[in-house]
Amino acid sequence: MVKKVISSSKTAKTHKRLTRFCPSCGTETDELFEGLCRKCFLSNVELLQAAKRVQFGLCYDCGRIRFNKFWQSYDSKNALVRDVVLRHARPLRGAKLSINYSDFTIKGKTEVPVEVTATIESNSRTLSKSKDMLLVITPEICPDCSRLRGGYYEAIIQLRGEGQERLQAAVENEMKKYTKIEPNAFISKVERLKEGVDIYVGSRTAAIKISSELRKLYNVECTITHKIHGMRQGKEVRRTTVLLRGSFAHS
Ligand SMILES: [Zn+2]
Ligand SMILES: [Zn+2]
Repeated sequence: MVKKVISSSKTAKTHKRLTRFCPSCGTETDELFEGLCRKCFLSNVELLQAAKRVQFGLCYDCGRIRFNKFWQSYDSKNALVRDVVLRHARPLRGAKLSINYSDFTIKGKTEVPVEVTATIESNSRTLSKSKDMLLVITPEICPDCSRLRGGYYEAIIQLRGEGQERLQAAVENEMKKYTKIEPNAFISKVERLKEGVDIYVGSRTAAIKISSELRKLYNVECTITHKIHGMRQGKEVRRTTVLLRGSFAHS
């Protein structure tokens, strides 16, 4: 077997770098984006498409945002702006999107100017395009909050026995977990009675789930009763009572 040894030529490094041509216009260039020169690439593709104006509702009370019929909550203004922009801007596949805006406070109808930039990298050259978007926030009241304002409730969590304050705090804490996933997961009223505390809850499902969580954490007995509370628009209106009784010490 013959091994061919190719020694590296001393002249190789001095060779002129291969010049490339744009197949579309024939321009001589080393700067190719997906095989085309900058000019042809930009005239062939839209690097960034974005809506000029996006209007959406925001609930005064809970701060959730409405997209058509859906209400969604966000942990931060940044997450909110990002999500709205991503729903209404389309960068070219493979392009990176960056979002620029000044901090804002929502007070009545609020306009937030946002600059969106798409950047694409090819052969260590970058190409970018920016567009201005205007986010228009219109405050309104979501259906959950309007029921909350009207004192709506489907269930009452009754706390009886010792350590009710601690358990009340636990109920309020657990409720926060359900606010984002369960409609009407709110406390519409808290009543202090001689025999204990009654917590009025907008969602029956949330009330039942929370009680079963608390049963795992504390040494409490739980009794759930459903009662028919009259009729409304041909439907039975049910009220659920969740009775938590015990020493409320950690089990
Ligand atoms: Zn070209
Ligand atoms: Zn709301």
